[in-house]
Amino acid sequence: MGMDVYGNNPISERGEYFRNNVWWWRPLWDFCEEVAPELTQGVSGHYNDGDGLDEEGAKALANILTISLANGVVDTYQTKRNEYLASLPKEECNLCGSTGIRTDNVGVEHGMDVQVLSDIEASVLGRTIGYCNGCSGLGWKESFETHYPFEKANVQEFAEFLADSGGFKIC
Ligand SMILES: [Zn+2]
Repeated sequence: MGMDVYGNNPISERGEYFRNNVWWWRPLWDFCEEVAPELTQGVSGHYNDGDGLDEEGAKALANILTISLANGVVDTYQTKRNEYLASLPKEECNLCGSTGIRTDNVGVEHGMDVQVLSDIEASVLGRTIGYCNGCSGLGWKESFETHYPFEKANVQEFAEFLADSGGFKIC
């Protein structure tokens, strides 16, 4: 699933279309809401139901994003988000009961319970046998929230689209 964002009246090729999958879109739109609350208020930005901004709104949002890129606001946001993600507690792996070795029917069927680990895996995991495909044998997983990345380059790309879009619809 993803968000297809179409320019209403594009003045260039880059203003025609912007796409993020849902993992990338959510943090990007969250950021837009944070730096441009007046513009994004009332826009159904997290749903692909055709909502968006008109030409004036799209240009104003492009300007705010461009300024945020230039003055370090995006950098700070990215750093803080990465710190936040790194601070989140690890999640349990329910496939192996957080043991790192999958012994349920599927695990046994695929030989994970007796799988011989590579040297690298063995040095990380501190054992030579037993694997789980849910957690790479670690017994824990990164927080689900880490699936939602935020990067400066993505903001830049979206700002360029907005500037030339002539307004947009999120579909
Ligand atoms: Zn596991």
